[in-house]
Amino acid sequence: MWERFSYYGMRAILIYYMYYSISKGGLGFDQATAASVMSIYGSMVYLSSVLGGYLSDRVWGSRRTVFIGGILIMFGHIALSVPAGRIALFISILLIVLGTGLLKPNVSEMVGGLYDAGDTRRDSGFTIFVFGINLGSLVAPLLVGWLGMSYNFHLGFSLAAIGMFLGLVQYWYGGKKYLSKDSLYPTDPLEPGDMKKLGVRTAIGVVAFALIVLLMFLLGSLNLNNFILLLSIVAIATPVVYFTIFLTSKKVTTTERKHVWAYLGLFIAAAIFWAIEEQGSSVLALFAANQTNNHFLGLHILPSWYQMLNPLFILIYTPFFAAMWNRWGKKQPSSPAKFATGMLFAGASYLIMVIPVVLFGTDAKVSPLWLVGSWAVVEIAELLISPIGLSVTTKLAPKAFQSQMMSMWFLADAAGQAVNAQIVKLYTPENQAAYFMGVAIVAIAAGLIMFALVKPIKNLMAGIK
Ligand code: GLU
Ligand code: ASP
Repeated sequence: MWERFSYYGMRAILIYYMYYSISKGGLGFDQATAASVMSIYGSMVYLSSVLGGYLSDRVWGSRRTVFIGGILIMFGHIALSVPAGRIALFISILLIVLGTGLLKPNVSEMVGGLYDAGDTRRDSGFTIFVFGINLGSLVAPLLVGWLGMSYNFHLGFSLAAIGMFLGLVQYWYGGKKYLSKDSLYPTDPLEPGDMKKLGVRTAIGVVAFALIVLLMFLLGSLNLNNFILLLSIVAIATPVVYFTIFLTSKKVTTTERKHVWAYLGLFIAAAIFWAIEEQGSSVLALFAANQTNNHFLGLHILPSWYQMLNPLFILIYTPFFAAMWNRWGKKQPSSPAKFATGMLFAGASYLIMVIPVVLFGTDAKVSPLWLVGSWAVVEIAELLISPIGLSVTTKLAPKAFQSQMMSMWFLADAAGQAVNAQIVKLYTPENQAAYFMGVAIVAIAAGLIMFALVKPIKNLMAGIK
């Protein structure tokens, strides 16, 4: 809860901090660049989960990896609590990308580890976990948003740091009391031979990346936008490499390979869904500030507060979805069918946004209810995709790659946001209607294709729900 409080609190004000003029306490970026940075930042945060999963399994064990991650995150927020401009921003991004990579995949895995495989309390455990995530995400935009936007951005970021600090204190003492000693050790510790292989591979990766950056510099094309493009390519290439390895590895059996093919379909769907969901903190955040009438029913709404709608709807819908799946029991739709339905809802949430733009133009200030409606619809999609994706990911994982698969789930979000980093720049007043329409059509078309593929994907999944 506290880690998500710090993350989503920071995200709720970050875009405004980036594009507000220097006289208003911001950094003076243009809006398109600010939206693109928001996206690539989000992408890197989930891309780094690959690193976090690896370090936990092979070096530090989950409990320590999560703690180190939390410390890095806290310092990331502290970096932004001082008015040190762009440098502080980039240092903060680096720290939070690394820290969240260490924390996020492992904290999800540790929840699973609290229960034996057959324990009936397992699902309830995950429900409480998701509740905590969204509770933190709900309160943060309110408090961090209020401090950050009505007083001073750096005060807001300080509150995010304090939240992470409180989380660390509780984790330290609670962990000593309740977590098993096993979580202090890696499950598959590195052998000396592995070390060398790892060292060589890391060195090759780092040198290759540095060479590309150097080449860009020599060609005179090293600027923020091109650097973001490079990162987008890395974030999309990473899952491509993973899938290739899973599909060609000798350690994967024929049945497992079918599962991986099925997962590929779900992965692409998830990436498209996350692309839309994550635009809530970039594209819709711009809409909230530029085109929404924030004096509503006598209330003065701060633009950052709209970020509360996402977790709010999740908290409201969760009991209904739980009851619905219970009632349908064995007759409930398959995971691919839920994903396909989710994509239609995601697309519909953007169709809603076409309406005010077409009706009132881009200079008008429209009712906040348009945004409320859009979020109300996209969160139906989130509940059809996010929890199901988490659980199906572990079930479809080939044995030899069990732990890497958890990071794969976060790579779908990373890939979606890598695409966002490129397309959000097209979101300009002239293009707005076409932008919402275009993204909606892609999601809906993909949803329909997914429906056509439900049968074959179910066959590939052979028995796994
Ligand atoms: N918003 C969720 C979280 O912060 C989901 C992120 C994801 O699964 O990609 O945990
Ligand atoms: N819905 C997001 C995540 O579950 C939270 C957010 O975007 O505020 O959990």
